[in-house]
Amino acid sequence: MVHKITLIPGDGIGPEVSNAARRCVDATGVKIDWEIAEAGADIIKKYGTPLPDSTLDSIRKNKIALKGPLTTPIGTGFRSVNVAIRKELDLYACLRPTRSYKGVRSRYENIDLVIVRENTEDLYAGIEFEEGKPETKSLISEIEKLGKKKIKSDSGISIKPISISGSKRIVKFAFEYAVKHGRKKVTAISKANIMKFTDGLFFKAAQEVAKEYAGKIEYEERLIDNMCMQLVQKPELYDVLCLPNLYGDILSDLCAGLIGGLGIAPGANLGEGIAVFEAIHGSAPKYTGQNKVNPVAMILSAVLMLDYLGEKEAAKKLDNAVAKVIAAGKSVTYDLKPNRDDPTAASTSQMADAIISAL
Ligand code: NAD
Repeated sequence: MVHKITLIPGDGIGPEVSNAARRCVDATGVKIDWEIAEAGADIIKKYGTPLPDSTLDSIRKNKIALKGPLTTPIGTGFRSVNVAIRKELDLYACLRPTRSYKGVRSRYENIDLVIVRENTEDLYAGIEFEEGKPETKSLISEIEKLGKKKIKSDSGISIKPISISGSKRIVKFAFEYAVKHGRKKVTAISKANIMKFTDGLFFKAAQEVAKEYAGKIEYEERLIDNMCMQLVQKPELYDVLCLPNLYGDILSDLCAGLIGGLGIAPGANLGEGIAVFEAIHGSAPKYTGQNKVNPVAMILSAVLMLDYLGEKEAAKKLDNAVAKVIAAGKSVTYDLKPNRDDPTAASTSQMADAIISAL
């Protein structure tokens, strides 16, 4: 069977790591018809937008994409294309397994955590009001009237919507993942003691869903600040972590740090029958075009993709090949060497070659 998959190379280091992942997937022998689609800052001149309809249509049609990172300018410029793709396609679940690989220098061993992050709501909803704008002023006065609270007139405002339906579906996803993958516990995380009507609602929704799994999967709750400390001190106590969007984003990087860095942390964005696979890391612009960065995060995202496609054997084979190359420590990129200036560090493409040889 041939799988038709949209491939978005991305920008910055995106094309380099995407190409490495594509070569590794092709080398497993799984037949893939890649449909290349563009997105990002580089194509605005050509299409007048960083996210052309043709790219979204390609993902909608193929129902599956492998995506390289895309740059989002900070503070100004266009909104995140990554966030727009997730919202447009209602990819409500962001799945980020974080597992230790032997041979990666890290302060921790045997980490095996799965982050399930809500992907469409929260402060990421993109509902923002710029300081000084007339609509911001009228919003401030409306909130002051309704909420009987004073807001400084020179404030910018970001809105944090969290719904019962959105919370229930992400918690359900986390429990279903736990059941299917032999996990024992789901921990829901938020800041419910302070934001009672959003984070508190998230916990309430989670408790209702958890009842359906009572006796099968354990359920517990943590506050996000305490969770950060707990993960640094005793990560072995945790299993599947389920969070609203912003906390999930932050904790993903923390967990990537536990296993030795962003270079080996994969991810997937999943909706109903539709999925976009991408690394947690961004476009690392300072390394663009240097054939230097670690392709593993992108290759492991492709492993998740193969698993999703039902190509379990190929997924396992590629995962094992990655583990073998990392454990051997020879053909690995600079970030996996004891000394980051090691002149024997492999390039992005050389590491991909070594993984292909280890298949
Ligand atoms: P980043 O992940 O791009 O890079 C931070 C640092 O992590 C890099 O400087 C590098 O030292 C290291 N790193 C990242 N990927 C690596 C790899 N594959 N191998 C080795 N080291 C690696 O984060 P940033 O600098 O905050 O963001 C850069 C741009 O990427 C921003 O525009 C941001 O918005 C965007 N971004 C995109 C996505 C996405 O496409 N999903 C995700 C995160 C950030």
